[in-house]
Amino acid sequence: MYHFPEDGEKIEFKDGKWIVPDKPIILYIEGDGIGPEITHSAIQVINKAVEKAYGSKKEIKWVEVLAGNKAVNTVGDRFPKETQEALLNYRVVLKGPMETPIGKGWKSVNVAIRLMLDLYANIRPVKYIEGIESPLKDPKKVNMIIFRENTDDLYRGIEYPYDSTEATKIRDFIRRELNIDIENDTGIGIKIISKYKTQRITRLAIKYALQNSRKRITIMHKGNVMKYTEGAFRDWAYETALNEYKESIVTEEELNTKYNGKIPDGKILLNDRIADNMFQQIIIKPEDYDIILAPNVNGDYISDAAGALIGNIGLLGGANVGDNGGMFEAVHGTAPKYAGKNIANPTGIIKGGELMLRFMGWDKAADLIENSINEAIKQKKVTQDIARFMNVQALGTKEFTDVLISII
Ligand code: NAD
Repeated sequence: MYHFPEDGEKIEFKDGKWIVPDKPIILYIEGDGIGPEITHSAIQVINKAVEKAYGSKKEIKWVEVLAGNKAVNTVGDRFPKETQEALLNYRVVLKGPMETPIGKGWKSVNVAIRLMLDLYANIRPVKYIEGIESPLKDPKKVNMIIFRENTDDLYRGIEYPYDSTEATKIRDFIRRELNIDIENDTGIGIKIISKYKTQRITRLAIKYALQNSRKRITIMHKGNVMKYTEGAFRDWAYETALNEYKESIVTEEELNTKYNGKIPDGKILLNDRIADNMFQQIIIKPEDYDIILAPNVNGDYISDAAGALIGNIGLLGGANVGDNGGMFEAVHGTAPKYAGKNIANPTGIIKGGELMLRFMGWDKAADLIENSINEAIKQKKVTQDIARFMNVQALGTKEFTDVLISII
């Protein structure tokens, strides 16, 4: 079904490192709702930045693969086998948002791709861009990166409707073996958090912090109530950090007893906060939060709240990475009310593309993209979601894309 250009090559992975040829084949999925508009905008901007940075030496060979509504309409299958094979083979994809219905219907294709490629870390940088209206008095203090575990927790989808055979069996087990009364109209979702998966995301967050001179990692959990899942996430994260990176880590207690409240050079403060408290913390004291290490559901919730602090989630991009693959996307969803209207802000997926270039080691092109977004916003050339708070005329998705390309 797909044609892969002969002059393009696969990105390879070795010991967690990316080996990127000059003409890498990268897949893209348009996505649903506003997906096609913003994905094409991102591809144009990325191509321009790569061309400006490297001339004809480097070029991305894009190949579209089908998933979501376009795949249903074209081949009658939401996540076709050919797409799955292409993803397993080429392992790097830029993806538009995809629709997932609430309370019924198909399971999330986004989650399926993350699990299939074992993309265990969802990395979401949240940094204020000068000029954007924010609900905070001093939004310049916002510079956080959310490290959300991507392959465990309630998102694993071990879920059964209340009237299914599986739910009946599980309720019977709970009554019989655990002696806990449970109503017959109870739907079941199972929360799982493993030591292995907690350890690997913790290692990745620490390595990232060390390589990028970040000063703090805060574990966000609800371990006081969900002791053996979220509480265990907290304990395993501390254990991994203190066993494997002792030289680089300072705990909150050590900070106060040994270091007079000041994080020593070259060290990272590792602390933890209960999940609900985190929502007020990032509003009241955003400067105290740097890397937030969270299980899947917490990481999802805190991302949108953090996005609001710097304007809105339309501005956030995310990387989903594992040891051998990556899916890059906007943090937001399909925004169906804006679909097909040339209104949506493409910045989120463009920032996803910027992250992709950084993982590829193509930082020069990534910097051009980052600067173009900052400059466009400084010039008040923005889409309607931002323009309405700046009292300026809004640009359409296409026109905003042209502005970014002209700045690059
Ligand atoms: P949403 O992110 O689509 O929209 C939330 C709000 O933000 C809406 O008001 C929307 O109009 C606005 N918004 C989002 N992106 C914008 C953009 N680029 N420009 C301007 N405004 C923007 O979230 P939702 O409404 O909760 O979900 C809609 C659908 O998206 C659901 O089917 C959901 O499952 C899916 N979804 C997919 C992903 C993904 O593919 N990774 C992520 C989140 C939600």
